[in-house]
Amino acid sequence: MGNKQFKAESKRLLDLMINSIYTNKEIFLRELISNASDAIDKLHYRSLTDSKIKINKKDLKILVEIDKEKRLLTITDNGCGMTEEELDKNLGTIAKSGSLAFKEENEKKKDIDIIGQFGVGFYSAFMVSDKVTVESKSIDSETGYKWESKGVEGYTIEKCDKKDTGTKITLHIKEDTEDEKYSQFLEEFQIKELIKKYSDYIRYPIQMEVEKSRKKEGTENEYENYKELETLNSMTPIWKRNKKKIKDEEYNNFYTEKFRDFENPIKVIHTAVEGQYKYNALLFIPAHLPFDFYTKEYKKGLQLYTNGVLIMEKCEDLIPDYFGFVKGLVDSEDLSLNISREMLQHDRQLKVIAKNIENKIKSELENMLKNDREKYNQFFETFGVQLKYGTYSDYGMNKEKLQDLLLFYSSTEKKLVTLNEYFERMKEGQNVIYYASGETIDKIDLLPQVELLKDKGYEVLYLTDNVDEFVFQVLQSYKEKSFQNACSDNLDLDTEEEKQELKKQNEENKDLFLEMKKAIEGEVQDIRFTHRLKNHPVCLTSEGAISVEMEKTLNQMPNNQGIKAKTILEINANHEIANKLIELNKNDKELLEKYTKVLYAGARLIEGLNVENPTEISNLMCEIMCNK
Ligand code: ADP
Repeated sequence: MGNKQFKAESKRLLDLMINSIYTNKEIFLRELISNASDAIDKLHYRSLTDSKIKINKKDLKILVEIDKEKRLLTITDNGCGMTEEELDKNLGTIAKSGSLAFKEENEKKKDIDIIGQFGVGFYSAFMVSDKVTVESKSIDSETGYKWESKGVEGYTIEKCDKKDTGTKITLHIKEDTEDEKYSQFLEEFQIKELIKKYSDYIRYPIQMEVEKSRKKEGTENEYENYKELETLNSMTPIWKRNKKKIKDEEYNNFYTEKFRDFENPIKVIHTAVEGQYKYNALLFIPAHLPFDFYTKEYKKGLQLYTNGVLIMEKCEDLIPDYFGFVKGLVDSEDLSLNISREMLQHDRQLKVIAKNIENKIKSELENMLKNDREKYNQFFETFGVQLKYGTYSDYGMNKEKLQDLLLFYSSTEKKLVTLNEYFERMKEGQNVIYYASGETIDKIDLLPQVELLKDKGYEVLYLTDNVDEFVFQVLQSYKEKSFQNACSDNLDLDTEEEKQELKKQNEENKDLFLEMKKAIEGEVQDIRFTHRLKNHPVCLTSEGAISVEMEKTLNQMPNNQGIKAKTILEINANHEIANKLIELNKNDKELLEKYTKVLYAGARLIEGLNVENPTEISNLMCEIMCNK
């Protein structure tokens, strides 16, 4: 087979890799060893499910060899191997197609490094080698094939003699440069250290022939050198080890390598559960949103092992949607290896484990909320919206579970607070939890309706996420206190006397409101005087279940049905404008019409709604200014 070209995207990535200034070049070794381990996993799994394939478990291993003179480093595994097609497909194209696009988007942000970011696996070999040779024989093939490449130029694939199934990767290590001592990767102690650091938990022995020295037989103090195969890793998977003896660094290394993240997790949850169903779980909460989190490529799920054998890469049923950002694995005894996805869904053991895991994550988050608020805030800023969706979706089925994990911005505390904290601070006789929604905290803070509440000493929760109000609708109440929108028409703050007076005022001015309604025909449900405004002349409130904010959200959705909030134009009864309007109603109906239009436009703007007739409004304002 002749010279082949890399797919365009792979070529660019390869180019990036070869010329990379990425300082952490040593990770190439863990990438290759991790591929080798995956390949052995696959073979192991096949042997358990396919009676034609026989293996001796004891023979499964990874061999590392160094040839200093020829500058060669080889990594050999006796895993599943690759067919000719697989060599071409797997090593000629890069699977993680999202990664390059992402890199380009961030081209200017030098600190985001694609390799650290995604760990592009096999190609990282080119960071330290000027030539890479892969000899492989698949369990499904009689012949071995050799893949070879010197980098971006392309690669060749040809038949080769290979006796055993598996893969042998030979790296021709680059010559040293002023900045980079590539020769370190040909040093025995360095390789040993790297394996200890990154690959200790690999479940198959990683062996290397090391030079040792011993006393010569029959002599007093004469020594001879000999070579011996040494296993360099402890082979215990990290999740099966005693967590008291695991350093943070080990968890972090494991996480960043296994789940391809460039940042350490914000939280590690490690449990070993005894009892009816025994299992170990190792879970991680990432510090940031996965880059593809909101794409359909993102799939939630945990890796599922049984007795150390990986049986499923992403078991969705182990994790509820609202904790879908959690990464990790579960290792349980006695799960059938041949189990299918459908069977798993009905598996009792798995259901119990999933329930336990859900509770565990929840209680860990509660602990974080209680004991490390700063960290919890960081978590909530990243994933809080997931919890909100969880509260609101499935008709609020999980609301009780999640409500105490939610945070909202408080007008009095000027930071995020829980519903319970709000509840505990409620004023005597206060029967409702006040909230107001808007695009930003600043905008909400300036809402006329909010001002009065603040003035009367009430704490108000400011909602800035689209989903927030829907969450409150689903919750309905918290500890028997219902939620009250500061901008709804039935905000009940007046005394009985004040109410009577307002009622009288509104009745006396029925005519006025009728006249004004004519000016903005069909726009509002009602117009009336109010006491809710302290200094501001007007505001728009909503009546019924749909608030103005919800209207905005609903109408952004695909195939929206033009749902409209029922709005009321409220005029400050104690503001000068009230008397002005009464006077105009008596003397100048034409001018009253103009005033009404301008006031209504102003009220809409305050709510963040658009004004449909801006030119008319602008002209009207000028007319009024010029006393026309
Ligand atoms: P990833 O491991 O994330 O899929 P890589 O670029 O490291 O990405 O490897 C690409 C693919 O090549 C792997 O998914 C695997 O199918 C195959 N591969 C790599 N190394 C080996 C190996 N030692 N044995 C068998 N297959 C391998």
